[in-house]
Amino acid sequence: MNSKIGIVGAGIQGISNALFLQKKGFDVTIFDREEPGSQVTSYGNAGHFSPYASLSLNRTDVLADVPAMLLSSTGPLALKWNYVPKMIPWFIKFIKNTTKNKMMHTAKYMHQILNLALPAYDELFDEINLENLVENKGILYIWDNKDLKSRELEIKVRDELGVKQQLVNKHEIHDLEPHIKPFYHAGVYYPYARHARNPKKILLKFFELFLKKGGKFEKSNVQKIKFNNQTPIFKTDIKEYKFDKIIIACGAFSKQLTDNLGEKIPLDTERGYHVHFKNCDHLLSRPVIYSNRGFGITPMEQGLRVVGTVEFGGLKNPLSKSRIKNLINNAKHMLGDLPVHEDEWLGFRPTLPDFLPVIGPSKNYKNVFYCFGHHHLGWTLGPISGKIVSGMLAEENTNLNLDPYSSVRFS
Ligand SMILES: Cc1cc2nc3c(=O)[nH]c(=O)nc-3n(C[C@H](O)[C@H](O)[C@H](O)COP(=O)(O)OP(=O)(O)OC[C@H]3O[C@@H](n4cnc5c(N)ncnc54)[C@H](O)[C@@H]3O)c2cc1C
Repeated sequence: MNSKIGIVGAGIQGISNALFLQKKGFDVTIFDREEPGSQVTSYGNAGHFSPYASLSLNRTDVLADVPAMLLSSTGPLALKWNYVPKMIPWFIKFIKNTTKNKMMHTAKYMHQILNLALPAYDELFDEINLENLVENKGILYIWDNKDLKSRELEIKVRDELGVKQQLVNKHEIHDLEPHIKPFYHAGVYYPYARHARNPKKILLKFFELFLKKGGKFEKSNVQKIKFNNQTPIFKTDIKEYKFDKIIIACGAFSKQLTDNLGEKIPLDTERGYHVHFKNCDHLLSRPVIYSNRGFGITPMEQGLRVVGTVEFGGLKNPLSKSRIKNLINNAKHMLGDLPVHEDEWLGFRPTLPDFLPVIGPSKNYKNVFYCFGHHHLGWTLGPISGKIVSGMLAEENTNLNLDPYSSVRFS
């Protein structure tokens, strides 16, 4: 087990992979071009641990709503028009994945791993001093009486999968979150869900644990993967590093490396944003998501973190000021007057058109493994994905069906 493993990516996926590999005795080095905890996607997310969220965006009702969502100034969806031509093949694959059968396939296999997500986190939390960085106050979704069919669909699919959910009426929502303006009609509450008070600090605590256990970190950009027979080699800007096995876990940026390995995996990004309202976190006790407008607010150490938007625009376009404005207006709609916002942030959800992640060995090279594409749920799914990949590298048996996550589904 003391073979040498190289991982590209020090986000929640890369670090979780590393910690579970160390538990099995592997000698692990992580590569990242940024310092761990810098402003990558694992830093700026909404901090939800959402084991209930098995229904993804490839669903039967979404396509019909797209034109209205794009035209609405309060809605969650946006495009960078210069990127649309590049994304057409992805959109076509996405549309093919919105049939009822495909929607249920994704929901079933997201549920399989989401169901194990919190226990996997607890295995890592047991090894750090969590202080008060995780709250166990549940997560609340609220809605007004538009698009009720979509809400019914979500409730029905989660019921079919056996996800526990508590429907709440206006009075119950008010009792849970008295500061929200009463525009809502009803909602659903997941009392067992949790939230992070500061995802960056949790990530850094995991990283310190990794170093304490003998892990190594190289701050380098992995440009290319080469091979000497079947032995993988990372080529960075400065030098080359040889490993027994490697893992590509660099979120939305993984495609550059998988293309380099000769596999055409249709990974793209759903861009998302956040802003903070400092010193306002007393206004909410838990994350609240306003389903009709597709945004949410999480009380964090930084204040209220307002998070949302699905923007198709690739990795290189600049931040859109109109999306920041949209978040600010939506937050004020929910809570009334708020001070001037801080920290405009753009992040990159790594998303495949069937909304399942890629977890498993590469198609072409037996010593190369993948762990990316966890879209809206990569924060929740870090440790469970790391645990699964570490089991694969250790050649252990599992009673999970891991075929649906294989990259081979795209060949
Ligand atoms: C607005 C928003 C809100 C979200 N909210 C939630 C939520 O509440 N709950 C949830 O579960 N999920 C949420 N997510 C999704 C979640 O944040 C992501 O799925 C997850 O962070 C992805 O983690 P990762 O480790 O795969 O990638 P990243 O966090 O992007 O990390 C990838 C790392 O790889 C490095 N890298 C890339 N290429 C190279 C290279 N060639 N060489 C060296 N290093 C490289 C990068 O520098 C980076 O550090 C949200 C996402 C967004 C955008």
